[in-house]
Parts: sequence; structure tokens; C-alpha cells
Amino acid sequence: MTGRRTFTMIKPDAVENGHIGAILEKISSAGFKIIAMKYTQLSRRDAQEFYAIHRDRPFFGELIQFMTRGPIVSAILEKDNAVDDFRALIGATNPAEAAEGTIRKLFAKDIGENAVHGSDSDENALIEGSFHFSGREIY
Ligand code: UDP
Ligand code: MG
Repeated sequence: MTGRRTFTMIKPDAVENGHIGAILEKISSAGFKIIAMKYTQLSRRDAQEFYAIHRDRPFFGELIQFMTRGPIVSAILEKDNAVDDFRALIGATNPAEAAEGTIRKLFAKDIGENAVHGSDSDENALIEGSFHFSGREIY
């Protein structure tokens, strides 16, 4: 059981393809309450800091290029068991392996351009949410 908050981004591919509304609808229907949200674009520096944990992975350069190429929607979501339930809702990192009905299965192209981010732990949900939002922006 995880805590009551997680952090998400609707990534540039999903924004470009006009899926913001459909993805927010899936999130709301699954019982998540949006407690912070913004439409924004990551700078290279933002993306490198946000994904610092993946710095040494072979896909890092591609990931930074992708995540900075257009606007995103970032949000903090609230629900019981938020981190685990949201990871279940979005599906596997690779949409080819994602379960039917998951957000990545429905809207993602491949393992890189996979439509949405979801925090992988309560600790990272807090770090990631604080990276994007001040306390003043969370309601
Ligand atoms: N990624 C990629 N190639 C890979 C694995 C990951 O481009 O082989 C990208 C993808 O956008 C993914 C992000 O890097 O969502 C972070 O990877 P992670 O393993 O943390 O997956 P996630 O937690 O997003 O499911
Ligand atoms: Mg991850």
C-alpha cells in the first residue's frame, strides 16, 4: 500500500496528439483527484534534473530531447494507494507490454514516447511533485 499522492506528466507526444482531455478523463474516472496542475514546457536543465536517475542509461539523450520538444501537463494526484494504483492505470513502460485499457496501451507509441509519467514510489512522488509545484500551487 502506497500513500495518498502521486505525480504525473502528460508527455509531449500525448499533448501533440490531442490526448490531454482523454487522459484526464481516464485519471478522473479512476478516482484520482487533481490537487495541482499546470501546462508547461521543460527546459533541458529541468529534464536533466528530473530524470537524473537515468543519466547513465543509453536512452538518456533521447529522453531529454523528447521531454523538452513540446509542452506537457504536470499534475499532483490524490487517492488512496496513489502511486501503485496510478502505475496500474498507466500500464507498463513499453506500451507493447501494457495491459488492455491502460493509458499507455491506448495512447503511447513505444517505450520512449509513452504518453505519461507516473511516480514509482511515495518518496519520488514527493520529490517530483515538489520539483514542479510550490506549496502555494497545491489545493
Ligand atoms: N525510456 C526510454 N527507453 C527505455 C526505457 C525508458 O526511452 O528503454 C524512457 C521512457 O519515456 C520512460 C522514461 O524513460 O517512461 C523513464 O524510464 P523508467 O524506466 O523510469 O520508466 P517509467 O517509470 O516511466 O515507466
Ligand atoms: Mg520511472
